[in-house]
Amino acid sequence: MKSLLITIDGPAGAGKTTVSRKIADRLNYKYVDTGALYRGIAFEARIARVGQDDDIGLENLCSALNLNFVKDGRGLRLLSNNADITDQIRTPEISMMASAVSARPVVRKYLLDLQRNMGRKKGVVFEGRDMGTVVFPDADKKFYLDASQKVRAIRRYRELESKTFQILEDVEREIRLRDEHDRKREVAPMKPADDAVIVDCTDLSVNDVVERMLSYILK
Ligand code: C5P
Repeated sequence: MKSLLITIDGPAGAGKTTVSRKIADRLNYKYVDTGALYRGIAFEARIARVGQDDDIGLENLCSALNLNFVKDGRGLRLLSNNADITDQIRTPEISMMASAVSARPVVRKYLLDLQRNMGRKKGVVFEGRDMGTVVFPDADKKFYLDASQKVRAIRRYRELESKTFQILEDVEREIRLRDEHDRKREVAPMKPADDAVIVDCTDLSVNDVVERMLSYILK
């Protein structure tokens, strides 16, 4: 079978990462978590004290930045100017900051080229918010993975439980605010591509979702 480019978009906590990884493993494809790139920029902006709406500051920051992924025994790691920042970008604060900087056209423009470059050879599963709509409108297979807000909040809470002291209500609030912001922004708002297959996984197991998607991919 020829190598495909697969996109999986959807709101926070829908399970995109788990599902994308499993599909990439099954097909022997690469997997790219584009949210990590926005988180990486937010993380670096915070260190450099660049404001979330300081477009010139963000543009300068991006042009000096070298973000790339490497795979090791722990999975996909994000390197920023050769420093591994994977563990530092998963905090609730960086989540909100990522959503704020992701609404700035300078940031999206910078990442557009980077992401398209990563997809040049196909054989990749891209996870994000605008993969099927803006970054890869010609992708071979597009999905939009969704679930009820409650279920997404519970899943995210369980994921974070061992690392942070958040309460479920705070996680739900963060998800709601972030989704609303990602949906309403002017550039590349989060939405399903017209030709995306929408999968509601509120009542589905990870394996059900993966099998359903694979049967469509391999059709
Ligand atoms: O997927 P993740 O939760 O790590 O994404 C963090 C934030 O990055 C999202 O809330 C969204 O604002 C932004 N993002 C985006 N476009 C993408 C991927 C992520 O705007 N393709």
